[in-house]
Amino acid sequence: MAFAEKLDAESAMFLVGSENALPKFQGKLYLADATTCGEFNPDGHKQLLLEVIAKEKPEMVVFSHSSYGWDLAPRIAFALKAAQLSEVVDVIDGVPVLPVCNSKLLRKVAAKTAVTVLTLQAGAFSLADEPTGSPSIEKIGTAATGKLVFDGYEQAEKGGVDLTKAQVIVSAGRGIGKPENIAIIAELAQALKGEYGASRPVVDAEWAEHNRQVGTTGQIVSPKLYMACGISGAIQHLAGMKKSEFVVAINTDSDAPIGEVADVLVVADLKVFVPIFIEKINKL
Ligand SMILES: Cc1cc2nc3c(=O)[nH]c(=O)nc-3n(C[C@H](O)[C@H](O)[C@H](O)COP(=O)(O)OP(=O)(O)OC[C@H]3O[C@@H](n4cnc5c(N)ncnc54)[C@H](O)[C@@H]3O)c2cc1C
Repeated sequence: MAFAEKLDAESAMFLVGSENALPKFQGKLYLADATTCGEFNPDGHKQLLLEVIAKEKPEMVVFSHSSYGWDLAPRIAFALKAAQLSEVVDVIDGVPVLPVCNSKLLRKVAAKTAVTVLTLQAGAFSLADEPTGSPSIEKIGTAATGKLVFDGYEQAEKGGVDLTKAQVIVSAGRGIGKPENIAIIAELAQALKGEYGASRPVVDAEWAEHNRQVGTTGQIVSPKLYMACGISGAIQHLAGMKKSEFVVAINTDSDAPIGEVADVLVVADLKVFVPIFIEKINKL
């Protein structure tokens, strides 16, 4: 909705869900009942979407850049022979903007096809006002199941730390260089009476547990103080911490994108800066 608002475009929504839990907005909603159409049923949902697209004839078909969005978007793009633009973070002069080179650069990309399929990065667009009211619903349905069988959900293992409740978070990025350096980040977090977090590469390398990951595929946090140590500031990380009240970044690169959201950017080697900083805090 925020994306359509930014383009000053008309929109119609598609939801596989329930009439009892509808999102608030005033507009058209194609609603498929999840109990009959399946919550995870990409082949069936593709068919439903193609019917809606044939009716609405949109110029853009938009998905969230989520695991299900990644699954559905290319199916629709292929069926429509449409161009797909993934991970759109902005629109400038009506042209979608995508991050490249680990978000160090942005590029504007215009599609040549009549219809464009897009996935939008979480948190990249927000509405001017909170939506209110009820949508006008058109019910749709399918019995098609396709080639995949949804087996059910499995509860993720509960971790020992809940970053969403932490008032102070000190996060380690790839810039820490080696797993042993997690210790200085954890020590700084302890000195500030907070928790330590991590960016995704640090978690992927198994230098920190997944429940410490901050970002779109980790925790969405809003502490009073967020310290990003050796973190470049990729959009997926920023989406998880941009609601922090005060952000301090420590980075050797004065042009790192994290500088754009940081209240204070310390241009330094974290391995030198952090131990001195801990010493100073402990003397207070
Ligand atoms: C679908 C998808 C989902 C994702 N979800 C997440 C997510 O939830 N969370 C997340 O974090 N990422 C996520 N990512 C990955 C994201 O795109 C980035 O790759 C990642 O955030 C980069 O992590 P980083 O900043 O630690 O590493 P890098 O981008 O490699 O940055 C390292 C930074 O450290 C600095 N540095 C190097 N040495 C030092 C030093 N000695 N002292 C100080 N600074 C130093 C460098 O200048 C650089 O800025 C996702 C990606 C995709 C595609």
